[in-house]
Amino acid sequence: MSQQDKQGDDQFAKVKPGDMGIIGNPVEHSMSPRMQGPALRYWWTQLGRAADTAPRYHKFLVPIDQLERSLSLVRERHLLGVNVTVPFKRAVCSHLNEIDEFANNVQSVNTVKVIDGKLVGYNTDAYGFEKSLEEFGFEPRQKSVLVLGLGGTGVVLIHRLLELGIKSLFVWNRSSQRSLSVPQTKIQPVRVETEHLKEVVPEVDLVVNATSVGLKEGDPSPIPKPRFQSRQFVYDVVYHRETEFLKLAKQSGAKTSNGLGMLLHQGAKSFEIWTGATAPIELMRKELKTV
Ligand code: NAP
Repeated sequence: MSQQDKQGDDQFAKVKPGDMGIIGNPVEHSMSPRMQGPALRYWWTQLGRAADTAPRYHKFLVPIDQLERSLSLVRERHLLGVNVTVPFKRAVCSHLNEIDEFANNVQSVNTVKVIDGKLVGYNTDAYGFEKSLEEFGFEPRQKSVLVLGLGGTGVVLIHRLLELGIKSLFVWNRSSQRSLSVPQTKIQPVRVETEHLKEVVPEVDLVVNATSVGLKEGDPSPIPKPRFQSRQFVYDVVYHRETEFLKLAKQSGAKTSNGLGMLLHQGAKSFEIWTGATAPIELMRKELKTV
């Protein structure tokens, strides 16, 4: 076994059958263990079992070229399932035995369940986003939306917003290389050039930052001087901090949300896929808020 293989395998040395975890690189920053660990212990004890025998939720730092090997270990060690994060959400799709329709359409899987030795993939990010909008009382039907960022997350959110019956969709991406294709049956997105953002931003009902700008302390807004309006809802998928983008939106009097609700609800859905039980959502919310 090569040194590289060994490093990858070591990540799985401590798992027990029935455990879970998150596969990514980097993965240290992930907040999923904070909510999944207590949720799994709660579920386990509700079944009348001892808390110290509850399934554990691990962080698996997977070397970039070791995804396939790690998925084999997930199966061989009889894990119940795993979350998948950056940079593997797309790559994982080609290593699964089955994939749910939405996840296949957007080619993004963040949840894998092992069912009878088979790896089955799902996307719960879209559900998390939808539930998060719902909690803020924002109904997307017949609304106009601008999505910033056509990376993996942007594409997932765009597909779900189209399914939810929005009226019009504007999209922007820093570089022009990223393409976007949506079903012909849906309204077609209008691509906005940077110089026209100043006209589009004030017009829409919802502005979503789906770029990774804001992840790092001191990051600016992904677009310069956005002219937000007080009647708007402004959403940022970044959940670690209040981003410059959200600060500007708040200053304009707009209603705002960071991505913590999306994180919570995608995690709750993953939990339900793995366990078949209702997620203890308030417990998970409390654990995330104590971060
Ligand atoms: P990704 O596939 O790598 O895409 C990154 C996007 O950000 C691309 O559109 C990229 O544009 C853009 N970008 C990067 N640097 C930029 C800059 N300086 N200015 C303008 N645009 C820039 O990443 P992803 O997986 O979609 O993740 C995006 C964000 O979503 C991350 O912050 C992630 O943490 C967050 N996320 C949150 C949740 C949640 O539950 N809240 C769930 C999933 C993801 P180019 O094409 O020009 O490079």
